[in-house]
Amino acid sequence: MKLKDPSLLRLLALQDTTGRHPQSSRPGARRIFARFVFVAVAINALFASGLVVFDILDANRITQERLGEQARAVIRAHRLLRSTRPELSDLDVLLRVRALTGAHLALLNASQAVRNTTHPKIAAELARVFPKSMERNKLYVEVEHDMGDLSGAWLSSRSAGQSLIVIIEHRPEDEGHFKYMTFGAAVLGAGLALSVLLLLASANWVLYRPIQRLVDKLTGALAHDIQRRREAEKHAIAARGAAEELLTFRENLLDASDAVGIIATDTGGIVRVYNRAAQDILGHQENAVSGVLELSALRERGQREPEEALPPEARIKPTAGEELFVDAQGQERLLASSLSEIRDSEGNTSGELWTFIDVSERRRLEAELHQNELQLIQSAKMASLGEMATGIAHELNQPLNNIGLLTARVLRRLAKQTNGEQTTPPQEVSTFAREKLDRVLSQVERAGRIIEQLRTFGRPTDNAPLHAVPLKKPVEHVKEMLKGQFRRRQIALTVDVSEDLPAARANQGHLEQVLLNLLINAMDAFEDGAREDGWQPSSPPKVQLSAYCQEREEGRMVALSVTDNGPGMSDETRARIFQPFFSTKEVGRGTGLGLSISYGLIEAFGGTLSVESSLGEGASFTILLEVGEDAATVEDPADR
Ligand code: ADP
Repeated sequence: MKLKDPSLLRLLALQDTTGRHPQSSRPGARRIFARFVFVAVAINALFASGLVVFDILDANRITQERLGEQARAVIRAHRLLRSTRPELSDLDVLLRVRALTGAHLALLNASQAVRNTTHPKIAAELARVFPKSMERNKLYVEVEHDMGDLSGAWLSSRSAGQSLIVIIEHRPEDEGHFKYMTFGAAVLGAGLALSVLLLLASANWVLYRPIQRLVDKLTGALAHDIQRRREAEKHAIAARGAAEELLTFRENLLDASDAVGIIATDTGGIVRVYNRAAQDILGHQENAVSGVLELSALRERGQREPEEALPPEARIKPTAGEELFVDAQGQERLLASSLSEIRDSEGNTSGELWTFIDVSERRRLEAELHQNELQLIQSAKMASLGEMATGIAHELNQPLNNIGLLTARVLRRLAKQTNGEQTTPPQEVSTFAREKLDRVLSQVERAGRIIEQLRTFGRPTDNAPLHAVPLKKPVEHVKEMLKGQFRRRQIALTVDVSEDLPAARANQGHLEQVLLNLLINAMDAFEDGAREDGWQPSSPPKVQLSAYCQEREEGRMVALSVTDNGPGMSDETRARIFQPFFSTKEVGRGTGLGLSISYGLIEAFGGTLSVESSLGEGASFTILLEVGEDAATVEDPADR
């Protein structure tokens, strides 16, 4: 499954293709600062230039006013001289005024032509100084270095059709205010330069550095922020990847097992998770179930009671935690299933989870195996019966012999009576016959009991229910069956069942089978030991069968032990005796199944079977059984 998250893609797109993020720029801050300085210097220069221009204009104005004043004084002197000394010619007047004031003068006629002048060059310069129609009543200041004596302020004054031109000598460099102005301009320039320097320095100190620091801080913070964001992005991407991986893993996990069906619903009970195994087991396609069906509906659709029409052994019987189901193809399946609630982190129910496995095949195999086990037990029983056959024949022979003898005696007596050879009163004969027939009957009963015990023992074992079995019964039965054989083999068999022994949790038939096995093995051990190993008993052969109580950590237990003083067994043999088909007996005598089957039977009772033995020291088998829970005694096997 692939997860596509647009926000993640957007996040990724934000990243520079080079993998770098925009960095803070000091040149940017410098540019801002340079602009600021430029604007500040420009304003400063503009202001300073304004000042200079203003100063020049003001100096000009003062000069003009002063020169105008002097020129007017010259004009007044000219007028005064003319009026007071009419005898003087125009030229003389001009010359005297020149002598008096030091100014050059020129007199123009109505057509503006020079009539008299104190300086020959005035006529030539006039057109240049007053280029257009001369406004000769107006003071005109011309500062010209190359005009020599005529450098200065020119003023024309019109009266009585004549114009008087007055030239006040004036050299700008001689002017105090002009000097001051020049000096001022220099100082101003220097001040300007200094102020620019100061401005630069102070701006650097007051403005640039703090700005730089601020910019650094901001860019640093920005860079840090970007870094953090990058890391957060990385984490987010990693977390996303991990989450995606986990999700895929979980999805794979759901489908990993093709044996465990997993179905989960949402709060509304609708199936949301339906894994592949569920599909395989139930046979419904995912798209017909997931998001469509409620789990309860799905379950109801398949749940079935076992087919009543089928014979019981063909039915699959669900045990606890199992359900019988019919899949989409109509095939019966036995599901071991569990239905549980799904809870969220706050403990609220957020759905239902149904997990199951198909145990039909396993159950079928188990049944087969059980059947095989039963057959094996049966074979072992038959083998035991075979081993007991001679003894049993002898056992049956005795009552039959007795019956024969007794019957013969009765018949003989009756024959004598009939032939008149003996004249015993009929009363006596009949008492004799009844007594003998009673004994015959008891012998018949004895034989019947033996046959019944064999019949019970040989009966196939099916699923054996467990009961509280008082041990006296199986012990007695076994003793009955084998005592003849023990007698013939001259092995003493003693049986000891403690009084007040509680019943044990067992199956009587199986328990008898185990005891028979142990006793026959003990008998065989004496024979095999003597024959194969040349072993000689140090004391008369004996086998002790005891039933007693034993206090264990897990509580009170019932113990049964079969102990012999036979040849015992080596460590190697002892380690293998419970293995199936292990036997030290020759082929035909031993199957090697007795102890392994006995072990299984005792385990099935919840008990244990153990052995203690060493070579030459005899053997002791101990069965430990739980105390039967109910006091009810088991029915006699003969009645089963
Ligand atoms: P089988 O009797 O057919 O050989 P068992 O499973 O009953 O099979 O016994 C396995 C082996 O255990 C025997 O062959 C014998 O060697 C050994 N064994 C059992 N009981 C005794 C005993 N009381 N003393 C010595 N050996 C024994």
